[in-house]
Amino acid sequence: MKHIFSHLKFKQSDMFKRITDYNKGEKISFAEMLYKYVYNMKQRPQCIQCSVEKVKTFYDFYRGYAPFCSRQCASKNKAVLNKRKNTLKVKYGVGSPVEVRWSK
Ligand SMILES: [Zn+2]
Repeated sequence: MKHIFSHLKFKQSDMFKRITDYNKGEKISFAEMLYKYVYNMKQRPQCIQCSVEKVKTFYDFYRGYAPFCSRQCASKNKAVLNKRKNTLKVKYGVGSPVEVRWSK
């Protein structure tokens, strides 16, 4: 990945400039800048649990952002998912499809 970044920086400075301009004033890593540029995101995404706080963790270019703003929201969400899963298990004998999504 480093190699790609330096390639962008030195060999295609127009592209590099476009990406940094897009993220002007942001104190974030170049990987995150690139991610936001590629996915056309103006801001960090909101937490999927509270929908108030913005997500603070950016993993890397391939994985993108963490789904939650905090550990609290993550555990709250897990509790909700587990409850739902248990209900599904009782009703249908299966886990939730959402479980598959977040276990990656
Ligand atoms: Zn949250």
